[in-house]
Amino acid sequence: MKGRRLAGDTPRGDPHPPGGAEPYSAGVDGSARRSIVAASLCADYSPDAVTAALEQALGVLGGLPRFVPPGATVLLKPNLLSPRPPGEAVTTHPAVVAALVRLCLQAGAARVWVGDSPAGDHDEGRLWRDTGMAEAVPAAGGEMRSLRGAVTPTRCGNRSVPVPAWLPEVDVLISVPKLKTHMLTLLTGAVKNVYGLIPGRSKSLFHGEFPSPRRMAGFLTEVFGVFRPALSVMDAVVALEGDGPANGSPVSVGVLLASTDAVALDACCAPLLGLTPAQVPLIAGPAARGLGIAEPARIDLLGDGADRLRAARLRRSRGRALQHLPEWAFRACTWMLTYRPEIHPGLCTRCGICAETCSRSAIVRDAKGRYRIHRAACILCLCCLESCPHHAIRVRSPLLVLLRFWRWLQERRPPQEGA
Ligand code: SF4
Ligand code: SF4
Repeated sequence: MKGRRLAGDTPRGDPHPPGGAEPYSAGVDGSARRSIVAASLCADYSPDAVTAALEQALGVLGGLPRFVPPGATVLLKPNLLSPRPPGEAVTTHPAVVAALVRLCLQAGAARVWVGDSPAGDHDEGRLWRDTGMAEAVPAAGGEMRSLRGAVTPTRCGNRSVPVPAWLPEVDVLISVPKLKTHMLTLLTGAVKNVYGLIPGRSKSLFHGEFPSPRRMAGFLTEVFGVFRPALSVMDAVVALEGDGPANGSPVSVGVLLASTDAVALDACCAPLLGLTPAQVPLIAGPAARGLGIAEPARIDLLGDGADRLRAARLRRSRGRALQHLPEWAFRACTWMLTYRPEIHPGLCTRCGICAETCSRSAIVRDAKGRYRIHRAACILCLCCLESCPHHAIRVRSPLLVLLRFWRWLQERRPPQEGA
């Protein structure tokens, strides 16, 4: 982690039936008056430090046995976006997941499963190995579960969403997100994390059906309403800032967070981006539906990590304004700014995962075997960028680069006499 920015420093630049009431939801309903978010200091990912911080945070919420009845089957849902090593801070750190597995077993769980669906059709063996889960989870007594295979359709709003057929066997869902910025949704935390219960290709197809960030946020809210976790535990020991969720930079925040209210948990993280919870659709939307609390005045942020969290700042992503736009304006803006994903030929290994992921078939292989993105077909959902395991896809806006260069030149002009 040498040379990593600390989040307190100045940023460099800028399963189940519809209704979701049982068995996953716990602790929060529309009538709840206040929510508690526990924040514990955690300096690094050493097992002792992580376990102590988790025990402290969960103690604030009444202890893990409150959520994990004896004999329960628990599913831990980390963020395993793509096969990246834990040091890149793109995925939930295995030390956090392993410590939670142990604590759930100590609390009396019969089985602790760990599973997530990545962006793109990645080999699961590689995904689990590269993210550190293949080693950490079985060593802690848990079991990795594949989200592939047979699915069971579940109603989310007016859509039928496929989830693994084994999901109804789960008694307790614990969401274990990573704190990251997001180029389209601003923040990806506890609310968005449950979307990973949907197998990868299906997730991309829904991006095609809801092609603007605003509409997608509405659909994500529907999914969250059905798969609301009993508990959310966020890995913010090292967060991801800048162009998340896949191409940002790791930044030390030094806290682990826990809450029964995923909305409140995310709301406590919005100020790190200089935003109010009301400015983040994936916090404001679920709060408006009564799925959690977003008003800071109704959230008790407790624990020895509370001040650290309040002082931390994350550099926001480019394109952060786009998520506020209605679909027509989103299209116009991205067209005018020539804002689009591009494949870096020097980094691309030609694995083809991005092309399989794209719901619009906008990525094709040319005669020389190189992958190209057809701008006209692209809806800027960024699924390809999230799926690429080699950082080979970046969002570019040549017009913005020119504007920045012009501003840079202006700042360096000598002051005019008499001005
Ligand atoms: S950009 Fe290249 S390396 Fe990345 S997913 Fe696509 S084909 Fe694979
Ligand atoms: S090429 Fe465009 S439409 Fe296809 S996955 Fe990438 S961002 Fe989405």
